Amino acid sequence: MLEELLLATGNAGKVRELRDMLTPLGVRVWTPAERGLHLEVREDADTFEGNALKKARAFAAASGLPSLADDSGLEVDALGGAPGVFSARYAGVGATDEANRAKLLSALEGVPCEERAARFRCALVLVDASGTPLFRTHGSCEGRILRRPRGTGGFGYDPIFAPAGERRSMAELSGAEKNALSHRGVAVRGLRDWLRSARG
Ligand code: IMP
Repeated sequence: MLEELLLATGNAGKVRELRDMLTPLGVRVWTPAERGLHLEVREDADTFEGNALKKARAFAAASGLPSLADDSGLEVDALGGAPGVFSARYAGVGATDEANRAKLLSALEGVPCEERAARFRCALVLVDASGTPLFRTHGSCEGRILRRPRGTGGFGYDPIFAPAGERRSMAELSGAEKNALSHRGVAVRGLRDWLRSARG
């Protein structure tokens, strides 16, 4: 039975959301900072799952703990699926969320509402302490890119993304509302079901 795991990410937004969703499942969730780890993993795979596996293995090797990695990003149809796996560094390595959002809004300048379809995707990979994959799952969340940022919640592209059927941006939803419909929420529910069945 899985009693504890390390989150293989330093992204504060992901840590907050994953911890909120995983803690009620009875698993002790560690952050890299709590274990004194500061790891930079080169995310050079061309799929979300490939990058998640790399991160999970690197953190397991450094910590000796089962590790859970999230690799995620935004795909915009009008941009042929960009920024995709490059979402974190769309405006350059080390770019701020604000710079990434500004670049995306200017790339979509003049694109009409009905052509602004996009989706968030998330791959979650859990490996054991030796780096062997235990479970992999995915989630996605359809929506559209707004014309300007709205709201202060969430992180990353949330202020410029409205989930399908919502007038509000992702950043205008409460944390619980976002988790109920987000790509990460879908993926974590897959993991939750697996954890429950693994416990028997
Ligand atoms: P990575 O998984 O570390 O490569 O980074 C994923 C990037 O995708 C983040 O830096 C965000 O820019 C974006 N992203 C992933 N999930 C979300 C989300 O839930 N909301 C907004 N942006 C996200």
